[in-house]
Amino acid sequence: MSRIAEILLPLPVPEAFDYAEPEGMDLSPGALVSVPLGSRTLTGVVAALRDGQGGNRPLKPVLERLTGLALPPTTLAFVLWAARYSVDVPGAALSIALRGARAPRPRQERRLQASGAVPARTTPARSRVLAAAQEPISGPDLAIAAQVSAGVIKGLVDDGALNVILIDPDPGFGVPDLALTGAQLNPSQAASAKVLTGLVQTGGFSAVLLDGVTGSGKTEVYLEAAAATLAQDPTAQVLVLLPEIALTQAVLARFEQRFGARPGEWHSAIALPRRRQLWEAVADGSCRIVVGARSALFLPFTNLKLIIVDEEHDGSYKQEEGFIYQARDLAVVRAKLENALVVLASATPSMETLWNAESGRYRWLKLSARHGAAVLPDIDLIDLRSTALEAGRWLSLPLVQAMAETYGRGEQSLLFLNRRGYAPLVLCKACGERMTAPDTESWLVEHRYTGRLICHLTGFSMPKPKTCPHCGASDSLVSIGPGVERVEEEVKERFPEARVEVFSSDTVHSAEAARELVARMTAGEIDILVATQAAAKGHNFPNLTLVGVVDADLGLRGGDLRAAERTFQLLVQASGRAGRHERAGRALLQTYLPEHEVMQALKAQDRDGFMAAEMAERELAKLPPFGRLAAVIASGPDIPALDAYVQALAAAVPNAEGVEVFGPADAPQALVRGRRRKRFLVRADRSVDLQGFLSAWRARAKVPNSVRVVFDVDPYSFL
Ligand code: ADP
Ligand code: ZN
Repeated sequence: MSRIAEILLPLPVPEAFDYAEPEGMDLSPGALVSVPLGSRTLTGVVAALRDGQGGNRPLKPVLERLTGLALPPTTLAFVLWAARYSVDVPGAALSIALRGARAPRPRQERRLQASGAVPARTTPARSRVLAAAQEPISGPDLAIAAQVSAGVIKGLVDDGALNVILIDPDPGFGVPDLALTGAQLNPSQAASAKVLTGLVQTGGFSAVLLDGVTGSGKTEVYLEAAAATLAQDPTAQVLVLLPEIALTQAVLARFEQRFGARPGEWHSAIALPRRRQLWEAVADGSCRIVVGARSALFLPFTNLKLIIVDEEHDGSYKQEEGFIYQARDLAVVRAKLENALVVLASATPSMETLWNAESGRYRWLKLSARHGAAVLPDIDLIDLRSTALEAGRWLSLPLVQAMAETYGRGEQSLLFLNRRGYAPLVLCKACGERMTAPDTESWLVEHRYTGRLICHLTGFSMPKPKTCPHCGASDSLVSIGPGVERVEEEVKERFPEARVEVFSSDTVHSAEAARELVARMTAGEIDILVATQAAAKGHNFPNLTLVGVVDADLGLRGGDLRAAERTFQLLVQASGRAGRHERAGRALLQTYLPEHEVMQALKAQDRDGFMAAEMAERELAKLPPFGRLAAVIASGPDIPALDAYVQALAAAVPNAEGVEVFGPADAPQALVRGRRRKRFLVRADRSVDLQGFLSAWRARAKVPNSVRVVFDVDPYSFL
């Protein structure tokens, strides 16, 4: 009986395509195959098999089954679930899951080893080479070890005295040593670890909020959960998700210390061949611990038993481009599909997670004090209305004084400003023109290191012009407001002797550079670090005792649903970098809004009160987590076509109980890359099948060729 293979392809198509299964190929669901599509050959995955031969036209056959590569059933189920939830096609989610499998294989490396054969001619140099090549060794290393030229080595290869061996390159991870033990836990850490270990031993799905103040030892606690998971079942796997590449380095180091081996590392900065190796090692079970960014959730784990989502509140878990998803939420889904334990860790849990914990859906474990002698930093507000800044300065006198005292004691300060570059706006003082990119209505940010004006939305950049492009005046362009580079400039003027550095994605390009900068800060080789959020989270700098927040109000502008919550979380995180060891720390927040609920809650260290007030507001407005939101963003270069489409969409809103649709309205970012943008916002009661509503709605209006529509379920960005 011949069979039809339904193949999912990583393409924006709604369904699987049928192919004929060739005789003897013996496919099963999840198998990776290559298939012809038009003139191309694509990698896809077998979604299902059924008996039959196709219609009156013969089906094209599957070309090849890719050996050693398959998506485990739960990974495939997860991909399909995620696609449905995001109201997107399966191929969009699948392309994330197949990224590693489609990456090029790493090149094998050449090693040399003495074969045991006696060379035709023996010299002292040749003897040294053979002695140094008892174990496989690379040619250059061998030349150094034996102090010979490459010619001597080549001669021995030609003689057959050295064998050439090809080996796979080091995969970058090792086998965890379960005999090692972790830190001696304090009583509240031990109590939390015990609950987690118990859940690991019981098995099955459960979700836990690990709610602990910064520096309370959440990492120590979840390391014990990882140890218990690995010990419980020799094939069990552990996944640790982090919101930021810069943070993965610190956590990788903690795992390496705890288990004597590096975990697999997965994020966008990892080279493709290395990702291919890791993908295969996760699929065959040889890699047991993965530490990675959000897309690691789509790796083909065969026996995933523990997922940790560290800094679970972090907005970076939301993927906003291509396939849109919220990795923290999907981690809970994946844990359910895998019958696994999921631990969400944070000092400032998200509203959604707190709500799940309060309602008993998640277990709630608390660590309320810092470990050991360390105490939480005092937080004070600097009221910029009464303590005015000098013209062209961004640091108030009380902050500068505190920095001077800190520096005088040989301790470190961190200045936090969540804004890259030198100045967020360049303005012509002759004509008032604000510099923007030609095709995008957002301000260009001045970067002094590179002398360029950059659009942070699209990446467009140009050299800073000498004259105003609008009115032609020369020397009329002025830089408005500070970014980290400008704060660095001020710090260097005020503290000419101090060692000052900037930590932002412009100055720290790679995971390696981040690791290096963090290491120097940890070692005390930097006195004052000026940082965006890249450095504000997670890190442990023992000698850091002062955190200054340059513009505490920054995140409150533009006010969307989560503006207050996010600002609170970010500033707790940033302040929490201070005083993590013996010496007490303090945080100073510069603000024009000292009465704002966020500032008051920060000063009073009253997270619970703040979140309760926010929660009450959300409940009243039936906003998440009490209701659900989706955004619809339509964009296109052709304004009449775009308008016609959004009008058609507005007229086609399905009639549904418990759903409100707002819009269309111009998006706050109304022009990006030459495309006009329009938005709808959908609010639905929790009982509504929001995905069903959105699919039905989308199907009712035909999308013109020039228009692109994005459905964003649970939106985080309202731009
Ligand atoms: P969190 O993840 O909650 O911010 P960490 O696990 O990073 O906290 O702990 C903060 C600091 O305290 C780290 O340097 C960590 O090594 C140390 N620490 C925490 N718990 C212990 C413990 N039980 N014994 C020794 N050091 C600990
Ligand atoms: Zn001008």
